[in-house]
Amino acid sequence: MIILGAPGAGKGTQAKVLCEKLDIPQISTGAIFRANISEGTDLGKLAQGYIDRGEFVPDEITDSLVKDRLHQEDTRDGFLLDGYPRTLAQVGALDEILLEQGHTLDIVIELVTEREALVERLLKRAEIEGRADDTEDVIRRRMEVYLEQTKPLSRVYEQRGILVEIDGLGTIEEVQERIREAVQGR
Ligand code: ADP
Repeated sequence: MIILGAPGAGKGTQAKVLCEKLDIPQISTGAIFRANISEGTDLGKLAQGYIDRGEFVPDEITDSLVKDRLHQEDTRDGFLLDGYPRTLAQVGALDEILLEQGHTLDIVIELVTEREALVERLLKRAEIEGRADDTEDVIRRRMEVYLEQTKPLSRVYEQRGILVEIDGLGTIEEVQERIREAVQGR
């Protein structure tokens, strides 16, 4: 499964709850990058500048990270990608990885939310979590990059017949319930 949505749409939160219920790994590229940054690894050093500016980490880096992660044993019975793919090129890279590993995509969940609610949520998260990429300028940049590069992905998966749009407005539980209904219908 894949979960798509704008920055602040609640992807990470919903992904976590869903993965716990389904007992499958949540593969969040953003979280993997942040862990590497705080551990000071080479990958972290490579990624940090891009993330701090609200830009995407280059595809080659992200693609190989996902490829390695999907090689791990715990993904055998399913997994949820959260924050990947984010570009059309990553869609192609993912197709190859999945083909090679004998996986197929069952469902792509898109969390749909209004722009205004998003910026508000992200600014609030900035206060709580203190993420370096949650300042107002960087948030604005991440929104632009999302609209330019990631939003087009929903069409691709819609054309493949596996996209489900979920209204992201409501409590965490309400949104989770919508997602669960959609997943069960597959
Ligand atoms: P959010 O969903 O709140 O925008 P994430 O935690 O998913 O944030 O990602 C944070 C940052 O990590 C992104 O702004 C980007 O710089 C980097 N990143 C995460 N996933 C990818 C990806 N698939 N491709 C390129 N960069 C990525």
